[in-house]
Amino acid sequence: MTQRVVIIGGGQAAVSAALRLRSQSFEGSIEILCEEPGLPYQRPPLSKKYLKGELDRERLHLRPEEVYQDLKITLHRETQAHFIDRLKKHVATSNRGAIVYDKLILATGATPRCLPASVGGDLENVYTCRSLADADLLSGEVRPGQRLLVVGGGYIGLEMAAVAIDLGLEVTLIEMQDRILNRVAAHETAQWFRKLHLDRGVDLREGVGLERLIADGNRATLAALSDGSAVGVDLVVAGIGVSANDRLARSAGLFVENGVLTDESCLTSDPDIYAIGDCAAFPFRGEMTRLESVQNACDQGEYVAEHILGQAPANYLPEPWFWSDQYDVSLKIAGFNRGFDHVVTRPGEKPGAISLWYFIGERLLAVDAMNDAKAYMMGKRWLAKGQSPDQIALADPDLPIKDIPTKDTQAAAAA
Ligand SMILES: Cc1cc2nc3c(=O)[nH]c(=O)nc-3n(C[C@H](O)[C@H](O)[C@H](O)COP(=O)(O)OP(=O)(O)OC[C@H]3O[C@@H](n4cnc5c(N)ncnc54)[C@H](O)[C@@H]3O)c2cc1C
Repeated sequence: MTQRVVIIGGGQAAVSAALRLRSQSFEGSIEILCEEPGLPYQRPPLSKKYLKGELDRERLHLRPEEVYQDLKITLHRETQAHFIDRLKKHVATSNRGAIVYDKLILATGATPRCLPASVGGDLENVYTCRSLADADLLSGEVRPGQRLLVVGGGYIGLEMAAVAIDLGLEVTLIEMQDRILNRVAAHETAQWFRKLHLDRGVDLREGVGLERLIADGNRATLAALSDGSAVGVDLVVAGIGVSANDRLARSAGLFVENGVLTDESCLTSDPDIYAIGDCAAFPFRGEMTRLESVQNACDQGEYVAEHILGQAPANYLPEPWFWSDQYDVSLKIAGFNRGFDHVVTRPGEKPGAISLWYFIGERLLAVDAMNDAKAYMMGKRWLAKGQSPDQIALADPDLPIKDIPTKDTQAAAAA
């Protein structure tokens, strides 16, 4: 019988697991160990409304403090898990001694990659944006007229650029790959966002890396770029990806490779230890996959809670979705585009709305919908049902999306 559940990490995945345990009537103890000081919070607004000053700190909290108290979920804040003793089934912590578990959930998230010190990454005005503390430090620097260099053209880098432009900064964004969004989106989506940022005044340079930052005292003032040019900077933000926080798992002898490896039910190589959220790599469509998204963190948290209680299906099957806000554009993504072989473009009903549909053969894999909530909803529905739209009809903007014929491609996918 599981009496004591311990969760390491106090983010979206951890809270989701704890809440689902309680909502499914688990009566044992639930302890969350989190090294951060405050209440668990949502990260997406950190590079969006919070940084822009449009969202109060309290609104970031996943739940008010009373909810944890009422549900008897013990939050150990500013408590770092140092070591997992799998034989004794306890977690050694920085300030609470050893905490015993029956089931342990690793929800340790990820750490942003930093620019190396050898190129000036350790200078005072060089930032990343992962935590509330990072966003608060950045907020102190983003002032109109300042010159911002964003290194990295992924979603976080692009969101940072958009917020900074809206706040009146001068922004240069460099991406060392030949295009932005190289890892996550098709050429067509990248092209759409490139135009958006150029139109708003970002000096966006693709195929250009950072050679080094030149400092005056402890602050970077000039960035030497790989194309031989240089730009003046007042602050620098690195959005160059994250690494899974898998150190604890590794030192406990669990299987780790770009994240804590799990089976289809989110169990690690120890049958009493699960891994969920950004820190976990699980089998998905034939490959070990880490999904860095709120959807995955929340869904895996809920799944694992039910698994502990013997109520979950054998496999965690994600239905991925993601969003990004840049200027007045709301991007919504349904599905997972890995392995696509072509993209179909559909202009939306309203001006400026557009959706890009990823296919492998006849089968729909994902949709990127820009300011087109209808396309996103329909795409999500088709994906959930294993249906794929007729591609010629899809590309016809005069045909209402609800009238587009579909085909069942689930069976083909399973084969
Ligand atoms: C700026 C930003 C914008 C984002 N925007 C979006 C978006 O628009 N849409 C979307 O879907 N996703 C977005 N994401 C991603 C999303 O926020 C993450 O996928 C999600 O937060 C992952 O949740 P998690 O619980 O797995 O990890 P985290 O939220 O990272 O939580 C892990 C926690 O564990 C703590 N921890 C780690 N090790 C230890 C230890 N040894 N002891 C104690 N505590 C420990 C960490 O300090 C952290 O508090 C964004 C992320 C960032 C940073």
